[in-house]
Amino acid sequence: MKLEDLPIRDDLRGRTPYGAPQIDVPVRLNTNENPYGPSASLVTDLAEAVRHSAAGLNRYPDRDAVALRQDLAAYLGHDLTTEKVWAANGSNEVLQQILQAFGGHGRTAMGFEPSYSMHPIITSGSSTEWISGAREEDFGIDPDKAVAAIEEHRPDIVFLTSPNNPTGTALDPSVIARIVQAAPGMVVVDEAYFEFARTGTPSALVLLPDNPRLIVTRTMSKAFAMAGTRLGYLAADPAVIEALLLVRLPYHLSTLTQAAARVALAHQTELLGTVDLLRAERDATVEWLRGEGLTVADSDANFVLFGRFPDRHAVWQGMLERGVLIREVGPPEWLRVSIGTAKEMAAFRAALEGTL
Ligand SMILES: *Cc1c(COP(=O)(O)O)cnc(C)c1O
Repeated sequence: MKLEDLPIRDDLRGRTPYGAPQIDVPVRLNTNENPYGPSASLVTDLAEAVRHSAAGLNRYPDRDAVALRQDLAAYLGHDLTTEKVWAANGSNEVLQQILQAFGGHGRTAMGFEPSYSMHPIITSGSSTEWISGAREEDFGIDPDKAVAAIEEHRPDIVFLTSPNNPTGTALDPSVIARIVQAAPGMVVVDEAYFEFARTGTPSALVLLPDNPRLIVTRTMSKAFAMAGTRLGYLAADPAVIEALLLVRLPYHLSTLTQAAARVALAHQTELLGTVDLLRAERDATVEWLRGEGLTVADSDANFVLFGRFPDRHAVWQGMLERGVLIREVGPPEWLRVSIGTAKEMAAFRAALEGTL
């Protein structure tokens, strides 16, 4: 049986799945994970939480994950409360629920590219039409042009990624505010990398009180070093969360996931302690790459986009042959490296010097 022989939805024909290569190499710097694993004491607490939960696994989980949402609200601050916070299996599931509730057949979602490739994929997965807006040469968003594009297309959902993946670019809340004012529907600010932003970069959370159609999404996959746990969340007006309750699968967040995420939040000081190391390593990487004569995008995230290589695949391949996996993503001629430990970044520098 071949895929094309199946009676699959017409709008899925010919598409390719999301696919960052999962290649087993010594230095993996391609999916923006936090390179620091949990400490022994965190592992012990996680194991204890799982042991404690295990005795009750004959029962369904708390369908509304209230205790976890309370902890997430406390972490976010900004006077947020349980009814303004929602969680799911990774921010990708959060985004999918947003599309299910506010997108769908006959509706449109718009993003400003280059940006996170999952936004158009989740959009088309929910039979929503994707409209591609453009970023500027420096990867920022020009608010006048964005407002004009929104007025032209009237999208039901607008995606803004800040700091942006794969470019690292953060948006000023004044730009986001103008877009929210112009947008006829929902505006999603994907803040997966917010904790890595340079000091003083405000979160779009500051705009929530005045903008009930704004949704800010976060994840524990990056700064919290919990990619394997699959926990993403959002903050929004309580009515938005009521809308998501209509489409979420019952008991979508397992008892074990909820327990693990709460333990991670209790250890937030330790987990977020690695963020400062990674930010310093990022800034050093930007400087080193520029010193090599390369073009580098300013980054507020835990990765750096650099170029420009007429044959970027050859550079990616050369790095791989030297045991360093980076990402062929973003505009042609650019490559992205996730920030690893000091040792991994030394391997990255040596491999790049050997390749170029
Ligand atoms: C990594 C990433 C996510 C995180 O997805 P999870 O499902 O939470 O692991 C979300 N948005 C962007 C822009 C990302 O790069």
